[in-house]
Amino acid sequence: MSFLTLENRVALVTGASRGIGRAIALELAKRGAAVIINYNSSAQSAAEVVAQIEAEGGKAAAFQADVSDFEQAGKLVKFAIDTFGKLDILVNNAGITRDGLIMMMKEDDWDAVLNTNLKSTFNCAKAAVRHMMRKRYGRIINIASVAGQMGNPGQTNYSASKAGQIGFTKALAREVASRNVTVNAIAPGFVDTEILDALPKETLEAALKLVPLGRMGTPEEIAHAVAFLADERSAYITGQTLGVDGGMAMM
Ligand code: NAP
Repeated sequence: MSFLTLENRVALVTGASRGIGRAIALELAKRGAAVIINYNSSAQSAAEVVAQIEAEGGKAAAFQADVSDFEQAGKLVKFAIDTFGKLDILVNNAGITRDGLIMMMKEDDWDAVLNTNLKSTFNCAKAAVRHMMRKRYGRIINIASVAGQMGNPGQTNYSASKAGQIGFTKALAREVASRNVTVNAIAPGFVDTEILDALPKETLEAALKLVPLGRMGTPEEIAHAVAFLADERSAYITGQTLGVDGGMAMM
């Protein structure tokens, strides 16, 4: 059996310069998709992801866009369609944290997290959905978080943005199902990337005690779940949130 399960597919991964997004882009490319690598500030890292995909015989291109901005997200989706002729798979992965107890949280911390994590999901999906519906094919995969299911103290903004993505996933799944476009979310638990650098060591150690599998996940484990949902054969799965969290939240 061929491993090129995404051959002739075109994917766009937001925030693919580092961390989980980078692993997703590499995995989708390994399975045969041409991939647009979106980044905001890490141009060098994005260029390295493109180079790695090309070195392995795949197709990729990088595009700078702040996906929290409606217009920039629209230009990003247009770039994907213009570059590779279509867009089959959209992975809304870009995300940030600005943690703090609500007493200390500034309005800007709330706005930045909601705009980057949730509004970006609306921005990119809105730009992509008409094209996908016309083509009668699409896979939209939103990278949410276990924080959106369970809530985390110090993360009212982040947990709200991730719960918002899950609600958005269900509503959009119902809107576009008749056109063979599926919309799903993945809720990672703690995954070893730079986003966790902001967490105090003790908080992370305490959190890991809540993980039945007793360890952090890897970006590659999230990427594998994305590739599964992006597969043509996952056609009967929509509106779901797949936990990839070591068993932390058994919904
Ligand atoms: P990360 O290592 O900090 O990487 C974040 C990525 O998002 C970077 O590529 C960054 O690009 C991009 N990004 C940030 N703001 C952006 C914007 N406005 N426009 C475009 N790109 C932007 O984080 P990660 O751990 O890989 O997280 C990826 C996703 O998984 C996030 O949605 C996060 O909430 C979710 N998640 C992570 C964990 C975890 O434990 N790591 C757990 C659950 C969910 P630049 O560097 O170019 O700015």
